Amino acid sequence: MLEPPATTRAWHLVARPVGEPSPQDFALRETPLAPLGDGRLLVRNAYFSVDPYMRGRMGDTPGYAYFPPYALDEPLAGHAVGEVVASTAEGFTPGDHVLHFAGWREHAVVPAAEATRVDPEAAPLTAYLSVLGMTGLSAYAALFHVASFRKGDTVFVSGAAGAVGSQAGQMARLKGATRVIGSAGSDEKVRLLVEELGFDAAFNYRTAPVAEQLAQAAPDGIDLYVDTVGGDHLEAAIHAMNEHGRIALCGAIAQYNDVEAPPGPRNLAQAIGKRLTLRGMIVTDFQDLLPRFTEEVTPWVRSGELTWRETHADGIDSAVRAFLGLFRGDNVGKTLVRL
Ligand code: NAP
Repeated sequence: MLEPPATTRAWHLVARPVGEPSPQDFALRETPLAPLGDGRLLVRNAYFSVDPYMRGRMGDTPGYAYFPPYALDEPLAGHAVGEVVASTAEGFTPGDHVLHFAGWREHAVVPAAEATRVDPEAAPLTAYLSVLGMTGLSAYAALFHVASFRKGDTVFVSGAAGAVGSQAGQMARLKGATRVIGSAGSDEKVRLLVEELGFDAAFNYRTAPVAEQLAQAAPDGIDLYVDTVGGDHLEAAIHAMNEHGRIALCGAIAQYNDVEAPPGPRNLAQAIGKRLTLRGMIVTDFQDLLPRFTEEVTPWVRSGELTWRETHADGIDSAVRAFLGLFRGDNVGKTLVRL
């Protein structure tokens, strides 16, 4: 039995960021690896995910992060896929590939009960972190459960060239939306949305007010909005909403680095007259949807009807840079660190 190496390289949070995180808030350290013990796997991580929600876990403001804050001077955590190199767990052998939550590090010792076997023959390993993983499930849950998508809806998605947004827009189209509109932060991303991902219209939110551009893109209003941004996007969506419209509050990345409470949508009272539904969501509440999600989405992936993009950062040294890039819009689709 191969014993784990004594240490591995792992990113630690060393200071709680105030406002925009900076590289000094993180340190890459040699970190002890637990002994293998019983029922555990030694995994060599191949890819790990860096996600905007992790910003909430870096602070310690109660009620802001929906998971407990990361401990200081401990390895960060998040989804990862890798290869089992040693196992003391029944049913797992070296060479297996698993999805688990000990990301931000090169090697991990994880309880087998917290690992899910994945099949690299059925889909590329990275798909289990993106289109077939939490990213895809977030888009699916937001549209079809939180915001009760109906065939014929006009759908607006913000962060539309990002991981969740690009999936939500395509899924809405596949399920019979009348019109799908996306917003993104560059002309290149806008082009991608319309020319490659099948959005009917898209706009660059940096070039003119969101409300103006949304009104132009959706002359008959919108019925459903998947909000990944908050701020002026949410306000514009409320304004453009048709009666009985539905909003899935999935994320508010425009506000994650704010040091003071941002103003709420100034037009929230419109939700009364329009009988709008605004509903927050956390993807982990939708684990029971996974089998249905997988059954429905896998054929779309196989047929190429649902495509996905990934931005890969190479090597563990690049992880913090990749994470910070999420707040600048450096990525297209899912951001992954490749080891
Ligand atoms: P992502 O969209 O791949 O990356 C973040 C994107 O946000 C960037 O590419 C950037 O694109 C955009 N952005 C950054 N700052 C912005 C700003 N000030 N205004 C507008 N857009 C900005 O990330 P993701 O993983 O798919 O997550 C997207 C959102 O969904 C996040 O808010 C995340 O917290 C949320 N989320 C929530 C759940 C849940 O369970 N509730 C699950 C997954 C994700 P541009 O170039 O277009 O600006």
